[in-house]
Amino acid sequence: MKKLWILLCGAILFGALGIAGCAPEEARTSYAMTLEYDPASYTLEGEMTADVVNHTENALSELVFHLWPNAYREGAAHPPVTDLFSAAAYYDGESYGEIEVHHVEGATGFEVSGADETLLRLTLAQPLYPDEHVRVGMTFTVTLARINHRLGAGEHAVTFAHFYPVLCTGCEAEGEEHLFSALGEAFVSECADYSIAFTLPESYTVAHTGTGTRTAADGKATYTIAAEGVRDVALVASEQFSVAQGSADDVPVSYYYFDDAAPARTLDAAAESLSYFAQQFCLYEYPAYVVVQTDIPYGGAEYPMLSMIACDLHEGEIAPVVAHETAHQWWYAMVGSDPFCEPWQDEALAEYSAALFLDAHPAYGVSYTDCVSSAESAYRSFFSVWTQIADGEQTAMRRPLTAFSGEYEYRSVVYDKGLILFDRLDGLLGRERALAALRSYAKRCSGTIAAAEELIACFVSQGAYAEGVFDSFLAGTCVI
Ligand SMILES: [Zn+2]
Repeated sequence: MKKLWILLCGAILFGALGIAGCAPEEARTSYAMTLEYDPASYTLEGEMTADVVNHTENALSELVFHLWPNAYREGAAHPPVTDLFSAAAYYDGESYGEIEVHHVEGATGFEVSGADETLLRLTLAQPLYPDEHVRVGMTFTVTLARINHRLGAGEHAVTFAHFYPVLCTGCEAEGEEHLFSALGEAFVSECADYSIAFTLPESYTVAHTGTGTRTAADGKATYTIAAEGVRDVALVASEQFSVAQGSADDVPVSYYYFDDAAPARTLDAAAESLSYFAQQFCLYEYPAYVVVQTDIPYGGAEYPMLSMIACDLHEGEIAPVVAHETAHQWWYAMVGSDPFCEPWQDEALAEYSAALFLDAHPAYGVSYTDCVSSAESAYRSFFSVWTQIADGEQTAMRRPLTAFSGEYEYRSVVYDKGLILFDRLDGLLGRERALAALRSYAKRCSGTIAAAEELIACFVSQGAYAEGVFDSFLAGTCVI
């Protein structure tokens, strides 16, 4: 079954090669949304118009959108949290959320389907040929669970991520359904343009993807937001936010927090890592960057122009987590990949990038060697336990999210082993060639959903033996 999955994912990814991620502005899909959040009922009322461009090579008779909020429903087959984080996430006991689509325009009908009803299929009146546009509209209500998570009313902040119907990528719509996964991120989407009007009580402050303005009237605040060429948008609202502001190479950098003893240091980590990665890889393409403290029960989460970090991080964890999440602006936001099929591709690169940043910034007290040593010892501990308890254990990095048994295996194989992979490449090729490979990957693949083979090819072009290193780590045959 796992082999079949891997083959399927490979096929999906090869299909993805032909997809334009950040197409020129006139050729991008655009979303316009009017949203209003009512904290008393934990509901978000939404109206959305999507001007969809067919970037596939086929005529489409239907459009498929993800309805990720339905993963938060009672009895979901693929729930949002693992047992390990369940108690921390559901701080108020059991609580559930969902999205209900009320009305659709521009289609002859719609159907909600998928394993947890996380897909919305709109039937088009006539085929949508490659590069053609079609405009569809819909109204929806999202009910938030009281949960510390990507989407939910948390203890200190309300987090809106994956909250609206978002177009499936062409490869995914034609291939295997991406299931919500409590491990990692199942989300892959093309770059698109967004214009959003988001209204909520005036007592709230909102951190968000994009740039915009805030106006207030009659006890309500409205954020008018624009974001261009982004894969997704996330909004985080809180009545308890303080804001620290700085910049990195003329890009405004903000830090929204409600519980941080040293906010200036966290802001510095955000601005310095943004600047460092821009120097090492390629320019940061967006007009602003935000790091925001949330109640999520694990390290952090990446969105275009916005990184969430957990509020329960220890002092020494904050800079490494901020650097890791900031690196995702390159390895996820600008250079896209499919983190459901190939979760190692962006996560291992974010780990390696963070280790490079920390090494160049000794004030944070963690060296590159510290990062690699700690990954090696964590991975070896995992391996010695795993070979005793797992039946037919496998340590291949290359597998989809659904092929990991839980947090421990996922963390050890994707993050720890992933950092060790790039450290071995760094050692074999030398730092300058390793960085040249990443610059080439950023240049060639920015704006696309890159297949893992694109990344591997950039390293192989710096030294043919890199291919064997990737092969042995991805297949799980190397000895660490
Ligand atoms: Zn990550």
